[in-house]
Amino acid sequence: MNFAWELLADGVHRCRLPFLDVTIGLVHGRTGTLLVDTGTTLAEADAVKADVLEIAGSTVSHIVLTHNHFDHILGSSAFADAEVYCAPEVAATIADRTEHLRADAVRYGADPDEVTRAVAALRVPEHLVRRAEIDLGDKSVTIAHLGSGHTDHDLVVVVADVDPTIVFCGDLVEESGDPSLGEDSDRDAWPATLGQLLEVAGPDAVFVPGPGAVVDATFVELQQQWLTDRM
Ligand SMILES: [Zn+2]
Repeated sequence: MNFAWELLADGVHRCRLPFLDVTIGLVHGRTGTLLVDTGTTLAEADAVKADVLEIAGSTVSHIVLTHNHFDHILGSSAFADAEVYCAPEVAATIADRTEHLRADAVRYGADPDEVTRAVAALRVPEHLVRRAEIDLGDKSVTIAHLGSGHTDHDLVVVVADVDPTIVFCGDLVEESGDPSLGEDSDRDAWPATLGQLLEVAGPDAVFVPGPGAVVDATFVELQQQWLTDRM
């Protein structure tokens, strides 16, 4: 195994990539295997691919990209056979802003040659959604845009057919540091979006942040308050 995968519920796993502590989510069902986010490089993505084969016994059939930051999307290049779901903004970034993606990745310390390879292999996703259901056989996942926050197009992935409900939050929730408020963040809308997240997930859900350890609803409420104090 290349990475340390945590089992969150039956068929639901996550790992934290060493580079930038990016979360990769894995949901596997009887008829499909879905990844949430894909890391930065093809080397990372190939290592994830090998782990998924070992854990799920199958290749990745579906990918959800939570938002358009390089560390979530560049690795998607390695999964040529998967159906990719994302917000239209992510597809627009992949179609028109690869130079920006490349510059960002290198600025954050990714290997320039690795980034060049990943960018060259990028393809524009086919499923542009703000909400979708994906049937994986014995379980389905719900993709939803609940409002702006870390970006104006963050998607979350809710797995409700397991106990407890698991929610992959992208970078809307961050455990290992304060929420990442970038130039493209919407700090005024973010607290209300977390309110939506809490409502959709329910009080007993497990929340998987972008960076950091999994958290509960109380942690999300605290982060909501932290953001409200900075509006
Ligand atoms: Zn981000």
